[in-house]
Amino acid sequence: MRARLPVLLPLPLAAGAYDYRVPAGLAVAPGDVVRVPLGGREVLGVAWDGQADPDLAEGKLRDIRAVVSTTPLPANLRRFVEWVAAYTLSPPGAVLRMAISAPSAFDPAPTRIGWQRSASNGPKLTEARRKVLEALPPGAVLSTGELAAAAGVSAGVVRGMADAGLLQPAIIQAGNAFPRPDPEHPGPTLGAEQTAASLALREAAAERRFNVTLLTGVTGSGKTEVYLDAVAECLRRGRQALVLLPEIALSAQWLERFRARFGVDPALWHSELGSKTRANTWRAVAAGEVEVLVGARSALFLPFPDLGLIIVDEEHETAFKQEDGVVYHARDMAVVRARLEEAACVLVSATPSLETLTNAQSGRYRHLHLAERHGSAGMPRIELLDLRATPPERGRFLSPPLVEAVQATLARGEQAMLFLNRRGYAPLTLCRACGHRLRCPNCTAWLVEHRAQRRLQCHHCGHAEPIPTNCPECHAPGTLVPVGPGVERVVEEATALFPDARRIVMASDTLPGPAAARAAAAAISAREVDLIIGTQIVAKGWHFPHLTLVGVVDADLGLAGGDLRAAERTLQVLHQVSGRAGRAETPGRVLLQSFSPEHPVMQALLSGDLDSFLRAEAAGRRPGHWPPFGRLVALVVSSEEERAAERIARDLGLAAPRVEGVEVLGPAPAPLALLRGRHRRRLLLKARREVKVQEVVREWLARVAVPHNVRVQVDVDPVSFL
Ligand code: ADP
Ligand code: ZN
Repeated sequence: MRARLPVLLPLPLAAGAYDYRVPAGLAVAPGDVVRVPLGGREVLGVAWDGQADPDLAEGKLRDIRAVVSTTPLPANLRRFVEWVAAYTLSPPGAVLRMAISAPSAFDPAPTRIGWQRSASNGPKLTEARRKVLEALPPGAVLSTGELAAAAGVSAGVVRGMADAGLLQPAIIQAGNAFPRPDPEHPGPTLGAEQTAASLALREAAAERRFNVTLLTGVTGSGKTEVYLDAVAECLRRGRQALVLLPEIALSAQWLERFRARFGVDPALWHSELGSKTRANTWRAVAAGEVEVLVGARSALFLPFPDLGLIIVDEEHETAFKQEDGVVYHARDMAVVRARLEEAACVLVSATPSLETLTNAQSGRYRHLHLAERHGSAGMPRIELLDLRATPPERGRFLSPPLVEAVQATLARGEQAMLFLNRRGYAPLTLCRACGHRLRCPNCTAWLVEHRAQRRLQCHHCGHAEPIPTNCPECHAPGTLVPVGPGVERVVEEATALFPDARRIVMASDTLPGPAAARAAAAAISAREVDLIIGTQIVAKGWHFPHLTLVGVVDADLGLAGGDLRAAERTLQVLHQVSGRAGRAETPGRVLLQSFSPEHPVMQALLSGDLDSFLRAEAAGRRPGHWPPFGRLVALVVSSEEERAAERIARDLGLAAPRVEGVEVLGPAPAPLALLRGRHRRRLLLKARREVKVQEVVREWLARVAVPHNVRVQVDVDPVSFL
């Protein structure tokens, strides 16, 4: 046993692991969760691999106080923590914190005391006491309440028997709270195309070697059914499976499908779990008792001892990118974890990201494709409504052809959906007299009117204020007017146009939490609703069989702002929302309102030829070495003091690396130049694919001293450019 060991603390310390002494009599191995002193406190840490510094004076070392967990952090997870830290340029301790994000998992498990039969069996038993013994088989241990309920007697009877020595106290062993999903539970009969894909995925899951498969297919083609077969295969092999979903709160229908396929619920992991459930789940994952876990991106850092399969559903979703703390992309890190685990990874999407598609085309990933919708459902018919030719009435947002189509759909007793990716009533409030626009005091952003709550809100920092009656600038009364539509305004218009339709609004502020989303989905499936009006929530993987018309109020919305992936993302969300239409026998129809119907995104949606669109995107990015044909690292410099942010951004600009194949753009004020009261400047490093950007950036940052009031956030492979 070594006398000193490095211990990694779950804190954002740049130095990495600290050395501690292993006191005599304490057995500590790498991976053990330990308690160590730090300053005047005691903190949790993980005994790490590698050598402690032998030259460190004995007097500088402090003792490891205790080992607190019996299940060590698996070696693969330790390697993963190191890998993610190195790739994202984050302190390893900050990554470790995500891996032990259930601190109460290391508290001693509470012991529950119950009763078992004792040897002494008094001769004369009352009827009630006899029933208690009958309810307690030899060897079983039941709590007072359980035993009383099983015997149909009061708790007092049980306690009396204990006092009389007829029952003996014993520890109740915690059962496994995570029932086994049954891989042989019958699933649906797959079609020919689905069967072929299922077979290939099951083979991939059975390989016990690292492999990545991209599973594409139109919305409703059965991708979920197919990858659940891979989960079943993984279970047969006795390994654990992880399914990452972009928004677990919106996954009620997915969970129902899982239950139907495997007979039980999967274990869940997301930020809204209570601390007790978190602790139990963490422990059960570490003990190998959880066989399938479904979670948000943070589930990637759970201590699976034998992970055999990772599914990333809707792999193109930006929700997989974590933007604060450790900035990482869960889809990319899922591939890394699968490699370290010798596991299979399946990336699933109807509209894959150009990154993933490029990897499939170069042969790094396998590619399976489902070309047809399951059963008799065909793809919906997509039509463009040119808002220049058929504009809505003044002050309205639904054009006459869209209004007619909704009316006809409702008249047939079918469901219609209106989609606008913007919360609130109006994105901008303006003074008609002086032109003043109401903006957030903390952010470079307009305040969004939320009429139902009679408030103006900032969607970036949460700032809210009442709607003023006078213009704050020129003080004219009653001159403030809403400009542009938010989803609430579409609801208002729809209420006037279709007064008899039963409406539901699906937006993150009207459906807070999983229960509300589940109830909404159930009401829609049960045809208690005629018209669905919603923001991007409605574009998720819902299956609403009676929905036949989807109207997109502003198809151009995502195209503004020169984001590298604006067109790609607009295509993804519009394709997803279109895919909600006509999923059963009745054919679906999609109407896209646009001012630029000639735009390649609209044309790709119209023709259904997404491949050509992505090929054109690739051709546009390749020459300039934009991702995925080159690498980007963004630096965001921020401070409450504008001059400090400005100065450090300039220093970083002056110290920019002069390396072959590397170019630095900026510094420039970020589009969100002010966010939550912090002034922000951006620099963007663009490099050829073969450049080791982490090394370049590490050396770059080392050349600039950053004062305490300035933060420099590093974002490797940025998704957001705000
Ligand atoms: P995707 O994930 O490609 O959008 P899903 O797996 O959600 O497609 O399938 C769409 C719908 O069709 C779901 O309700 C699913 O249960 C059903 N489905 C798909 N394949 C089959 C099949 N082979 N047999 C019965 N139902 C199926
Ligand atoms: Zn704000």
